[in-house]
Amino acid sequence: MRGLAAGNWKMNGTGESLSEIEALLAAHPTPGCEVLICPPATLLARLASMVHGTALKVGGQDCHAAASGAHTGDISAPMLAEAGADYVILGHSERRANHAESDAVVAAKVSAAQAAGLKAIVCVGETEAERDGGRTLDIITTQIEGSLPEGTDPACLVIAYEPVWAIGTGRTPTTDQIAEVHAALRAQLADRFGTDRIALLYGGSVKPSNAAEIFAIPHVNGALVGGASLKAADFGGIIEALSAA
Ligand code: PEP
Repeated sequence: MRGLAAGNWKMNGTGESLSEIEALLAAHPTPGCEVLICPPATLLARLASMVHGTALKVGGQDCHAAASGAHTGDISAPMLAEAGADYVILGHSERRANHAESDAVVAAKVSAAQAAGLKAIVCVGETEAERDGGRTLDIITTQIEGSLPEGTDPACLVIAYEPVWAIGTGRTPTTDQIAEVHAALRAQLADRFGTDRIALLYGGSVKPSNAAEIFAIPHVNGALVGGASLKAADFGGIIEALSAA
């Protein structure tokens, strides 16, 4: 399976930031893994036309479950696809926490994304209190069950394991902790979909200095990267580590 290095710019980036993409493309014209940038919605169409014909793909950071309607401020999956997106991140812990997105809401968005021809990157992860309480695997399993609707197409699905306490904190789980969750995810998805070809990303404070160690963990097929995806040099280091894994 080809690895995926996915960058989530969150609410960062203006037109000026596209110079980082130019630098990234110049340094990595033919990466040995799939490379994706999910910019803020304001930059999506611009970035998509900029990277057209290159190895770099573009994605959204969220979508609404409906295709259109009275939902001020929201963006639908067909709109993302029309703007040039191939992927959309769904159920990121910041959406779950800041916008009260339940597993059922995420599931409805997965259906909408796949109906629009987008690949869904579905995020799951435990809080620190849940990990300390020994509930990590229960939480992950439940989130997967509730966030993947009936009819999910495994060929258009990526899962990102992102411990909430590791996002933007500089802290990462041990390799054994990541391995335990990824093995559980692999087993659960194989059981449900009959395939072990669904890419499993790790996300949470991935940077060039820890990427190689993380990519050596069984069933880690890439990374979802926040802060370190904003600078070409940092994201480039992660792309190199994944290409070499
Ligand atoms: C994220 O928000 O998905 C993420 C992994 O952020 P960071 O890499 O900054 O921890």
